[in-house]
Amino acid sequence: MEDLLRNLVKKNLGKTKLGEVANYIPELDKAKKDALGVYIYNIDQEEFGAGDYDVKFTIQSISKILSLMLAILDNGEEYVFSKVGMEPTGDPFNSITKLETSSRKKPYNPLINAGAIAVSSMIHGRDAREKFQRLLDFIRKITEDETLDVNYKIYCGESETGNKNRAMGYFLKSQGIIEGNVEDALDVYFKQCSIEVTAKNLAKIGLFLARSGKLSSGEQVISTRIATIIKTLMVTCGMYDNSGEFAVRVGIPSKSGVGGGIVSVVPGKMGIGVFGPSLDKKGNSVAGVALLEELSKELNLTIF
Ligand code: GLN
Repeated sequence: MEDLLRNLVKKNLGKTKLGEVANYIPELDKAKKDALGVYIYNIDQEEFGAGDYDVKFTIQSISKILSLMLAILDNGEEYVFSKVGMEPTGDPFNSITKLETSSRKKPYNPLINAGAIAVSSMIHGRDAREKFQRLLDFIRKITEDETLDVNYKIYCGESETGNKNRAMGYFLKSQGIIEGNVEDALDVYFKQCSIEVTAKNLAKIGLFLARSGKLSSGEQVISTRIATIIKTLMVTCGMYDNSGEFAVRVGIPSKSGVGGGIVSVVPGKMGIGVFGPSLDKKGNSVAGVALLEELSKELNLTIF
C-alpha cells in the first residue's frame, strides 16, 4: 500500500502546476503550490502515508461537516433541516444568488457557505467563544488530536475580508434562518475554517465516518443516522459544484476545502486524507482529485 501511495504522489505531483493556490483569503497564498500528500487509516488500525501528509494547512470548508454533526447533536435533525435544505446547488460554494431568488427560502444545503453559517449559528453556547470552544473540543475528540488549534493569522484574514459571508449572514438573520446573534455565528464560522490540520488528521475524520461515528476506543460519538446524513451530503454536495463529476470519476464520499484538503470516507473500510493546495477553478485540489481517482480505480473503492 505504501508503495502504491508513493507512486500516486509521484505520478500526480506535476498536476499541481495546473491549478492555483487560493489567494482570496490573506495568508492562504503562502502555501507551497507543489505540495501533495495522502494518508490512510483503515478499519484494521493500519495506517499508510506518502508525501506531505504532515504539513499543516487550514481545514476551511471541511469544517462544515463537523459543525453539522455538532449542530444536529445539539438541536436534532428536524430542527437543523427546517433551516437548511439537502439539495446541491450547482453554484459555487460562496454564491449568494439563490438565497433570495429561490422559493425554498433557506440555504440549499449545509455545505455551501450560506448553509454552513446558518449551521454554525445553531451550535449551543452562551456566546461565540463558548460555541467555538465546544466545536473545537468536538473536532479534537474526533481527530483524537488534542493539539488542534486555530491559525490566528488566517482567522483574522478571513474575518477582515469575509464581507460576502457577512452579507449572507445578515440576510439569513433577516429571514429568521439565523435566530441568534449574526456576528457570533460568523465568528464561529471564520474560526472553524481557520483550524489547522494535516492530511493525517483528515484521514482520522474519514475513519470516524467509515466506522459510522465511532472512535478507536469504541465510543459512539454520533449516531449511525447522523453519520449516514453526513456521508450522503458529502456525495451530493461535498466537492462544491463538481460533486456530480467527482461521484462518477471517484465514487467516494468526500469533502474538500480551499486550504487544499480533502477528506474521503470508504464506508466500513477506510478514511483517506489528502493535501494539495493547488486548486482547480471550482476550488478543489487539482492533484488531490487526480490522485483519489487513481487510488479509487486501483483499489476498487467506488461505493456505487
Ligand atoms: N473560509 C472559506 C470561505 O468562507 C471556506 C471556503 C471553502 O473552503 N470552500 O470562503
